[in-house]
Amino acid sequence: MTIGSAAKGLNLETPLIFEQGAPTRSGVSLPKLDVPDVDPKAHFGSLARNEAPGLPELFEPEVVRHYVRLSQQNFSIDTGMYPLGSCTMKYNPKVNEWAARLPGFAGLHPLTPDAKAQGALELMYRLEKALATICGMDRVTLHPAAGAQGELVGLMMIRAYHQSKGRNPKKILIPDTAHGTNPASCALNGFDAVPFPVGEDGIVRTEDLAPFIDEDVAGIMLTNPNTVGLFETNIQKIAEMVHSVGGLVYGDGANLNALMGKARPGDLGIDVMQFNLHKTFTTPHGGGGPGSGPVGYKDILAPFAPSPTVEVDENGSYYLDENRPESVGRVRAFQGNFGMLVRAYAYIREMGPEGLRRATELAVLNANYLKERLGEIWDVAYDRRCMHEVVISDKHLRETGVTTLDIAKRLIDHGFHPPTVYFPLVVKGAMLIEPTETESLQTLDHFVEVMASIAKEAETEPEKVKSAPNLTRLRRLDEARAARRPVLRYRPVESAGA
Ligand SMILES: *Cc1c(COP(=O)(O)O)cnc(C)c1O
Repeated sequence: MTIGSAAKGLNLETPLIFEQGAPTRSGVSLPKLDVPDVDPKAHFGSLARNEAPGLPELFEPEVVRHYVRLSQQNFSIDTGMYPLGSCTMKYNPKVNEWAARLPGFAGLHPLTPDAKAQGALELMYRLEKALATICGMDRVTLHPAAGAQGELVGLMMIRAYHQSKGRNPKKILIPDTAHGTNPASCALNGFDAVPFPVGEDGIVRTEDLAPFIDEDVAGIMLTNPNTVGLFETNIQKIAEMVHSVGGLVYGDGANLNALMGKARPGDLGIDVMQFNLHKTFTTPHGGGGPGSGPVGYKDILAPFAPSPTVEVDENGSYYLDENRPESVGRVRAFQGNFGMLVRAYAYIREMGPEGLRRATELAVLNANYLKERLGEIWDVAYDRRCMHEVVISDKHLRETGVTTLDIAKRLIDHGFHPPTVYFPLVVKGAMLIEPTETESLQTLDHFVEVMASIAKEAETEPEKVKSAPNLTRLRRLDEARAARRPVLRYRPVESAGA
């Protein structure tokens, strides 16, 4: 790779280009010290550094170019359609960013006394009310930082609930189509995740569930609509079955973008659920950025909710209530990812009830449109009306030697982020496609055309698909290594690789 091409993009395998800067370069100009210099050792004792941390030293333009270049090499919802099923990669309205950057919110110190943080507390109070209303829950904790942490917290509350009754049931029932975080959350809580099969038609049937129902059932985790994009029509009956043995129903709310404004999980028998604000409520996500996974719950679980809660006193002043003896405790520093709460609140207020309902309708309409049009060529896994996402498979291309992953990679060459592939596990060669409501008809049609062209290529020029992506700076990455040995911390060049 030459320096010339490095100017257009960055080869992450070439540390000499990634490592920039030189000693004594600086991107800031601080005023001259006008107070007496102090000895850090005198103030911080053993915490003081003995030597400089060896951070890169760069001019401001170098820093700007570095990050802008990285952002250009990345795919984002601001550059193209992102039909990553289950992740609800919808457009993030810029008005949310304006709200989150208001100095009163962005600059507020997390330890500010309640009396001086009334605006922030009021926003949290109102967001809690809005989310509770949308889902038919009594209350909502805003603390968890992601959907997965919301699951963990919801299950902690379920465990505390059973313990308060002197019970210790061990099993959480989970359909075999569930998102991987569901069994993980059970295991972290000391529950046994017990998988049960779903019907041929992709939904949970009460007769399949019945053999699993006994006194050792602490609860069930259900995603509705489920991970194959179908509404669990037996949900109320299922909830009754679980409640009849003293169990509780956990709703994985990640797919709320297909229900919002139309149906309320709380009315369907769900006792506790998480919201994924970064999915349904347009706070940005991906790339490991901050998420937010509030947990809604019914009153029976209220004593066990994380501390503190936001309350309002008789004078209309908001305060944080830490005095909650049965609480599962604090699950997150301060008040969670507050900036995400501001964005979600801005979105809800901007949309209003009608807007949220319309978003759901369009999300479902777009998915069904894709189901019909893609179904002309591709195999639709469950051929019935879907909700906000649809599962297709590459069954008809199996002879060509082209894999589902190849197809996903080829989409990148055409400017689309790939859909979720090989999930749900129950469908071989699955592609879970979630267009969301924020894509136009033109974009959806273009996606269908590109998918058709890839299917054709797979039969006529399979090498083109197998070698994709051909137009990106980096080709196929070692995903296992990236996940298992991520480089998350900067190390000075001398000790790189240590
Ligand atoms: C995204 C998702 C989760 C996990 O949420 P995170 O915010 O990514 O932790 C759980 N269940 C389902 C169905 C999801 O789509």
